[in-house]
Amino acid sequence: MKFLLPVCCLAVFAQPTVWAAEWKAAMGRGKITPEGSIWMSGYAARTRPSEGVLQDLWVKALALEDPKGRRVVFVTSDLIGFPRRITDAVAAQALKQYGLERAQLVFNSSHTHSGPVVRPNLETMYDLPPEQWAKIDRYGQQLTETILTMIGGALGQLAPAKVTYHEGKATFAINRRQASAKGVVLGSNPGGPIDHSVPVLRVTDLNGKLLGAMFGYSCHNTTLTGEFYQIAGDYAGYAQAEFERAHPGTVGMFLMLGGGDQNPSPRSKLELAAQHGKALAVATEEAMAQPGLALSGDLRVAFQMVDLPLAPHSREDFEKELSDPNKYKVRRAKEMLKAYDAKLPVRKVAYPVQAIRLGKLATYVPLGGELVVDYVLQTKAAFPKERIVVAGYSNDVMCYISNKRILQEGGYEAVDSMIYYGMPGPFAPDVEDVLTASIRRVLARVGVKP
Ligand SMILES: [Zn+2]
Repeated sequence: MKFLLPVCCLAVFAQPTVWAAEWKAAMGRGKITPEGSIWMSGYAARTRPSEGVLQDLWVKALALEDPKGRRVVFVTSDLIGFPRRITDAVAAQALKQYGLERAQLVFNSSHTHSGPVVRPNLETMYDLPPEQWAKIDRYGQQLTETILTMIGGALGQLAPAKVTYHEGKATFAINRRQASAKGVVLGSNPGGPIDHSVPVLRVTDLNGKLLGAMFGYSCHNTTLTGEFYQIAGDYAGYAQAEFERAHPGTVGMFLMLGGGDQNPSPRSKLELAAQHGKALAVATEEAMAQPGLALSGDLRVAFQMVDLPLAPHSREDFEKELSDPNKYKVRRAKEMLKAYDAKLPVRKVAYPVQAIRLGKLATYVPLGGELVVDYVLQTKAAFPKERIVVAGYSNDVMCYISNKRILQEGGYEAVDSMIYYGMPGPFAPDVEDVLTASIRRVLARVGVKP
């Protein structure tokens, strides 16, 4: 069939590079299963190191390059949380070796509680013998090297690709902040805020061959409890394995979103981790079966550190805490008094805030810490014209990130968890205003306006 071009379109052919230009993508993975027995992270009650491996652990990468050659690499992991000690080290090397700026790298952790301790994340939780710390330090070193190699591998394989955005739904997450006579406890709060959406980025080559997908969910990766001593990726590990079984040779990547105050339900049995993983994999498949929106336009990235304010405290608070019957409080008090001695009492938390705008397709907002779901819901509601994917557990996991409501209500996320994270106490109530303003700032920098 022959057709005539309207005159206005001729300009397109005068700029063949613009017309022909397209996005490139590559995906890869590296195994990070610890060798031998190692102390597992996430539960204070464990009394011994790991006993065998149920599932391998992985770091995975999705590298994207826009038509102008600008790049971003998403790195996800089956780990409790990436601390800055590791992300800063990888980012420094990635700048040297691959020319990637900090804003071009995202590090997200699935928050499995059946993986190794990653130092210094949750360090106050453990009182380990020196040989265990040495193992953990060696593991951290190897991890850094594996991630760097994987990033380099993905960049080296960048090739023209089609990236589409889809959204599915999985319903196993519940709000876990249950009101009780003793205040808010960890349990089940069916009326509390949740977000069951499953945002999916699907990647194929130009012939339609599937390379993989990155799917997200807002739910603690804690189907398995502290009685479990085998290395495993929990529901997120099962979901990724299920995806890769269904599509051999591809990469299934899990992105943890705002799971801070969300738990899988029901939980505590191995078969439930498999069941939830299957549910998430099915949600991803169903989403991908729908026609998706295709990626076009430019990549824009922004990254900044902001100071989140902590509630006031005094030296006397921690001198008193030294005689507390709770050994974790005593450990925390010692650390805080050291900081006072050094004239550097901990008053604020350095916090990474990032925005990755994938053309007109979607904007990812990776945020640090164990982010409660309210921030996901509020950010999406504040930018109704944009597709926004807010992901906590990114770039640094230094503590829970509460908001005004949760700080008022109290409970584990607001108060008790801060002990294990070696923080002096809860955040100040204006933490929500500071964080919300910084999210708006990075979004404005990538051109996203309310
Ligand atoms: Zn957690």
